[in-house]
Amino acid sequence: MVKNIVCVSCPLGCPIEVTIENGEVVSVKGNTCKRGDNYARTEMTAPKRSLTSTVKVDGGVLPVVPVKSAAPVPKELMFDCMKEINKVTVKAPVAIGDVVIKNILNTGVDIVATNND
Ligand code: SF4
Repeated sequence: MVKNIVCVSCPLGCPIEVTIENGEVVSVKGNTCKRGDNYARTEMTAPKRSLTSTVKVDGGVLPVVPVKSAAPVPKELMFDCMKEINKVTVKAPVAIGDVVIKNILNTGVDIVATNND
């Protein structure tokens, strides 16, 4: 089976052709760097996505602070991660890099603030 995907690891967006046989990736073509190869193999086996959102702030200048996952999380957990993020309210002050949720859903990934409040 051949699957055509677009690498989202950088703005170039290289079209990549992945050949899968017996559930295993046997070839990756079209990528112009090693990151593309890694992306294609991960996308076919255990796709992950970076997550961005906002978290409510109690006593801050603004009512919410932007947050992101410190690393990509499994794609199938994105919706559940968003539900966890929506439950949280942090107390001001919040600084860039503060861990808002540690090890969200046991993924090993922290949710961190990307702005001050
Ligand atoms: S294959 Fe490399 S150059 Fe192409 S989009 Fe992916 S990261 Fe960028």
